[in-house]
Amino acid sequence: MAGNAIQPDMIPADTGVKVDSRWQVQLQRAWRDPTALLHHLGHDPRRFGLARAGAFPFLVTRAFADRMRPGDPDDPLLRQVLPLADEDLETPGFGPDPVGDAASRATQGVLHKYRGRALLVTTGACPIHCRYCFRREFDYTGDGLNGAALAGAVDYIAATPDVEEVILSGGDPLMLANHKLARLTDALAAVPHYRRLRIHSRMPVTLPARIDNAFVDWLRGLDRQVVVVVHANHANEFDRHVSGALSRIRETGATILNQTVLLAGVNDSAGALARLMETAFESGALPYYLHLLDRVSGSAHFEVERDRAVALTGALRERLPGYLVPRLVEERAGAPCKLPVF
Ligand SMILES: *Cc1c(COP(=O)(O)O)cnc(C)c1O
Ligand code: SF4
Repeated sequence: MAGNAIQPDMIPADTGVKVDSRWQVQLQRAWRDPTALLHHLGHDPRRFGLARAGAFPFLVTRAFADRMRPGDPDDPLLRQVLPLADEDLETPGFGPDPVGDAASRATQGVLHKYRGRALLVTTGACPIHCRYCFRREFDYTGDGLNGAALAGAVDYIAATPDVEEVILSGGDPLMLANHKLARLTDALAAVPHYRRLRIHSRMPVTLPARIDNAFVDWLRGLDRQVVVVVHANHANEFDRHVSGALSRIRETGATILNQTVLLAGVNDSAGALARLMETAFESGALPYYLHLLDRVSGSAHFEVERDRAVALTGALRERLPGYLVPRLVEERAGAPCKLPVF
């Protein structure tokens, strides 16, 4: 998932729909200045070495920032979004497209990397910019599924019987207005070999108000099986608003999974990971993947060594029921699936 700043297109003023729903107003009120958020949390910004402003600007919703602990410079949620000067370091082995996405582009906005599943890059926009995001450097120019591109993507899926599962990704696909999501699934509905819809979104966590009535109605009305994969990295990301959003999704019959990136200084202890998996489950999401960091430029300070990652999942296995232990995986360019790490 990830990308550019919010594009005007994502705030549906250009579509004749009034910008009046609660989540779109909240989006416009997001924090865009790291020093302002640091002041708000009771910090002296001069104590943090911040990165130069770059192509992947600071952005975080108030809903997410509200779960940060005031006065804690090591807060695990703050750390995920704060652009530190470490980002400006060049590290060997870290590059712009660590997972080989550019090579698996089937047509505009479609990545077909794995058998049976096609991933739609519906938008480059997100309501929050996670500093470790593997798509922070992805070139979204000419991507995003508007008009002709949407028709082209549906044509590709219709002409490719291998594709039984369509994954909505981005950026964050829930940045699209509900009527755009409906336009996409209406077009897909006629494709006989399409059986499952998967939605990869961090918005139930980053902006729970996004899960509004019209969204839930759309989800309930789909005539294919639906899997929603959310993304949370720390137990503190869950609160009653997030649990409420997940309950509303579950009531539609969708399955909810959670994926996590293993991040130094955020969740790299057995205790933090165990609490995350339990809290996610209590909120309605089963653990799915625990990803080793994708080695995207500017993210080296988040990396956890493989041996430690393997030891941490071993420790999880000893303290959690099997269904709460996520699968430790890594992504390698050219591989036919996410690779298990032992
Ligand atoms: C991760 C990913 C998928 C989904 O893989 P699963 O193992 O089924 O979760 C599909 N397509 C692309 C391009 C991906 O990066
Ligand atoms: S929400 Fe997902 S896609 Fe967006 S920046 Fe964060 S990790 Fe990347």
